[in-house]
Amino acid sequence: AYERLVQTQKMETIGRLSTGIAHDFNAILSVILGHATSVGRRGDIDAVLPGIRQAARSGATLTRRLLSFSRTHTRHLSTFDLAEAIEEVRPLILPVFPRAIQVSLDTSVSGLWVKADRDELVLALLNIASNACDAMPQGGRFTLSVEADGDHACIGLEDTGIGMTPEVLARLYEPFFTTKPRDRGTGIGMATVHRFVADHGGAIQADSAPGEGTRIRIRLPLAEPEDSLRDEADWELAQTPH
Ligand code: ADP
Repeated sequence: AYERLVQTQKMETIGRLSTGIAHDFNAILSVILGHATSVGRRGDIDAVLPGIRQAARSGATLTRRLLSFSRTHTRHLSTFDLAEAIEEVRPLILPVFPRAIQVSLDTSVSGLWVKADRDELVLALLNIASNACDAMPQGGRFTLSVEADGDHACIGLEDTGIGMTPEVLARLYEPFFTTKPRDRGTGIGMATVHRFVADHGGAIQADSAPGEGTRIRIRLPLAEPEDSLRDEADWELAQTPH
C-alpha cells in the first residue's frame, strides 16, 4: 500500500509538472503564432522579430530548466573567475527585472576561482533573480554580490520583497513546492538551485521573514586558478578538427 501511495504521489507530481510546462509552452507558442500571423497581414517582419526571438528564448530557457532538473544532460565543468562569469551574464540578468526594481551587481571582488558548470550557475542565478522579481511586484531592490569566505566563494543575492513565512522557508527546496498560481510557478526553481549547489560541493542558506525580504547565500569551494589553463587546453584539443 505504501508503494502504491508513493507511485500515486509521483504520478500527481508529474501531472502537475506537465500541466505547468504545457501551460508555459502554450503561452510561448501563442506569442510566436501571434507575431507570425501579424507578419502575414502587414508584411513587416522587423517589427515582430524581437518578440519572436524573446518567445523562443523563453522556450529554450524553460526546456533548459527542465533538463537541468532531470539532469539528462552532461555536465561541463570548467574553472573560471566567479566575478567575471557574473559580469558576463549581466546582460542576461538585467532584463529579468522591470524598471521598478533597482538592480545592483557587485562583482568588484575578482580572483575567486570556482570549478563548476557555468551554464548551470547562470541558470541558478536566473532562477533566484526571477523569484526576487516575483517577490517585488511593487518594485524594490535586488543586490547580487560576490565575496571570499575562507576557502569558499560566496554569492549573496538579496531582495526587498514580500519575504517568506517559516513554513514556506522550510519547503523552499522541495521539488514542485510553489505558492504561485499555476501559470507563474512550477516549484522546480529552488530545487534545481539546491541540486546545483549540492552537486558542486557547496552550501546554500536562505534567510527570510514576511515583509523583510529574502537573502540567499551560495557558497562554492574555491578552486585553483591553474585548473583553467588545463581546461582551456582540453577545450582547444576538443575543438581541433580531425
Ligand atoms: P516557483 O518560483 O516556481 O514557485 P521555486 O522553487 O523557485 O518555485 O520557489 C518555491 C517557492 O518559494 C515560491 O513559490 C515562493 O513561495 C518561495 N520563494 C522563493 N524565492 C522567494 C523570494 N525571493 N521571496 C519570497 N518567496 C520566495
